[in-house]
This record gives sequence, C-alpha cells and structure tokens, in this order.
Amino acid sequence: MSVWIVPLVVIALTQTAVIATSVYLHRTLAHRALAVHPLADLLFRIVLWLTTGQRRQEWVAVHRKHHAFTDREGDPHSPRLLGLWRVQLLNAYYYQREARNRDTIRKFAPDLAEDRLDRAVFSKGIVGPGLGTALLCLLLGIGPGLIAALAHAVLYVVVLAPLINGVGHWRGAQNFTNTAYNSAVLAWVTGGESLHNNHHAEPRAPKFSVRRIEFDPSWLVIRALAAVKLVVVVGPPLRLSADSRAIR
Ligand SMILES: [Zn+2]
Ligand SMILES: [Zn+2]
Repeated sequence: MSVWIVPLVVIALTQTAVIATSVYLHRTLAHRALAVHPLADLLFRIVLWLTTGQRRQEWVAVHRKHHAFTDREGDPHSPRLLGLWRVQLLNAYYYQREARNRDTIRKFAPDLAEDRLDRAVFSKGIVGPGLGTALLCLLLGIGPGLIAALAHAVLYVVVLAPLINGVGHWRGAQNFTNTAYNSAVLAWVTGGESLHNNHHAEPRAPKFSVRRIEFDPSWLVIRALAAVKLVVVVGPPLRLSADSRAIR
C-alpha cells in the first residue's frame, strides 16, 4: 500500500464531512437556502453520521442561536467574547455546552424534532463514527485505519470547524457591514464556509461567494446535485451592493 493512501483518504473524508455539513446541516436545514430530495436527505444523514456523529437538531439549534446573538451575550462561540484561542482550541466544548441546553434546542430548532430514523439510528452519535472507523480499518488495515480516523477527527473538530467560528469572527476581508470576516484562502478547505462575512450578510443565500477571487467549493457540489434534481435552490442570491464595494 502506498504511503500516500492514508493522507489522501483523510483529505477525502474530511472534505466530504465539511461539505456535507455546509450543504446539508447549514444551508439546507439551518437556513432553508436549499431543499433536498428525500434520497439526498438520507444520503447526507448517513454520511454525516459516519463521519461526525452529530445530531442535526442540535447542530441547527446552536447555529441559529449564533445568528440570533452574533458576537453578543448569548452567542455560543464568539471569539469577541471568549478570545480567539479559546474558540480555536475549545470550539467542540462550547458547541457541546450549548447543544445540551434543552431550551436552545426547543427554541431554535423546533422544526427538526427527532424522527423515526433519528431515534433508531442517527441519534446514536457514537455508533456512527465507530462504524466509520471500522470501515476504514477494513479498507486500509487496522493501524492505518485508526490513524486515518484520528487524523480526520482532529482536522474536523479542532482545526476546520473552529477556524470557521473563530477566525471567521476575528480577522479578514469584508464585503458587507457585519461582525464576520471572509478568508478567500480558508474557504478552499472549509467548503466555502470561511466566506463568513458574505454569509452573515444574507444567511439564506445558497452560494457564499460574490467576487471573482472568492471560491465556494460547496457551490460546485450543489450545482452538481441540482443538475440531477437531488437539490433545489430556494434561497435568494447574494449580491454586492453599491456601498459594499467600498468596504474591504
Ligand atoms: Zn458567524
Ligand atoms: Zn449560518
């Protein structure tokens, strides 16, 4: 087995999880910018269960609360309130703390109550990544499989997700007047999520990039899925306004 296979599998796995999070949990469920076919809905849930084990109602509730209280008291993971490094290193802790708050779930994601599939399969958060790891071990062998699973977990949980929540509200470029920032470079590895200033300007926009130098990888996936009718774009497009050209 080539020494490159493990890093390549890790990159593929992490990018799959990041883009599924962005397209399904974020753009489809949290903001209703997209509508997905029931088959795509099931596929996204399976992929996210195996690669992250996250519960969709919790993810959506925590994220909607972030939009409701952006960078002020009540924001679950603001680097302005907590400091950049605390969000970067402890993002998973702050996420879990908010996700365990039943009031947050009830108030911010009442539309995503657990269904039969959740109760039977997807709410068993630890089983998904456990099964995913077992599949990796079958594919790569036990040692390389465990290394790939661990590297993916570290990249997703302590590198990429915190970069979106931390740096995205700390430093970068701006097209619009809000407290979030864009990083055109990070957007390449975060499924477009690091175009975060653009996202806060119009959360229901399905495509996060507005300038030629900005690239939103998830948008390519959305267009491919839309071409085979698995996704329908429903949110409004994001547009640069006359005054937004002056910012940056
Ligand atoms: Zn934000
Ligand atoms: Zn959002």
